Amino acid sequence: MTDEVILQVKNLRTYFHTDAGVVKAVDGINFELHKGETLGIVGESGSGKSVTNLSIINLVSHPGRIESGEILFHGQDLLKLPENEIRKIRGNKISMIFQDPMTSLNPYLKISTQMIETIRMHQGLNKEQARAKAVEMLKLVGIPGAEERVDCYPHQFSGGMRQRVMIAMGLSCNPEILIADEPTSALDVTIQAQILELMKDLSKRLGTAVIIITHSLGVVAGMCDTINVMYAGRTVEHATTHQLFKETKHPYTQGLIRSVPRLDMEMSDKLYSIPGVPPNVVDLPPCCPFYPRCEKAMDVCKKGYPAVTDFGNDHVCSCWLYTKEKETVK
Ligand code: SF4
Repeated sequence: MTDEVILQVKNLRTYFHTDAGVVKAVDGINFELHKGETLGIVGESGSGKSVTNLSIINLVSHPGRIESGEILFHGQDLLKLPENEIRKIRGNKISMIFQDPMTSLNPYLKISTQMIETIRMHQGLNKEQARAKAVEMLKLVGIPGAEERVDCYPHQFSGGMRQRVMIAMGLSCNPEILIADEPTSALDVTIQAQILELMKDLSKRLGTAVIIITHSLGVVAGMCDTINVMYAGRTVEHATTHQLFKETKHPYTQGLIRSVPRLDMEMSDKLYSIPGVPPNVVDLPPCCPFYPRCEKAMDVCKKGYPAVTDFGNDHVCSCWLYTKEKETVK
């Protein structure tokens, strides 16, 4: 990870205008990504983590709409670019891999056809060069017999191998940023560990910054430099991975950490789960949205959304426990 900031997300708001009301899926997100950094975005389903990343590559579909904010890639606001310009960046400079490769890979086309098409579109290589690049990328992600297997169909690969193919496709155009949305949740734990290790290794070797979206802090613990914890469309805590685990501030992050199984647990120990369910983001009250589920909730938490407290060392948190003004709020 270097000091060079390649992506800045400023005050991003993405809303879905539904018959039931306005779903504020992302409501004022801010973060930066440095060259070579691995950032984990963590939260339960519906916290806004996937929508944040779909917004970055401008793939939010109807009835969703980016209401406001800036997404600066090397200082250029992606939200102001016309679709033909954003297409040159999407899949090329910023690439995305999804949870289930079978929904991203075309089952009727050979891997070679799918990879060559992408590489030719973005890299301007001829067919032979693009095929050689596809084989090189499959080798890089550890597909044995890549020269022959490049001509296989997706169903001829196992789940783990398909995910490796997706990573090869995602990295085939040498992106500066790879966004991985729950890349391992459909895999068993052994393969999950292999894929995470592979992504970590490749990002280090190729200098690619990675944004990894997951509901599990266990997944990001050994992989990420920094972590954003999201709840109800906002970042509630951000820190380096080391700092977040060492001095966890937000009660929601504490709950997520307690929910991760540990090796020193007894078989009879019950795994902790955060009580209650995530809020309906259609009609959020103007208070801390974690209030109904929080073990440390205070009266002040009902009075308004907590401000951001900066603890230094790139560690920030939104919680009334750390807000100096709490005594003055009635
Ligand atoms: Fe809990 Fe209050 Fe902090 Fe919200 S602001 S997380 S309710 S202590």
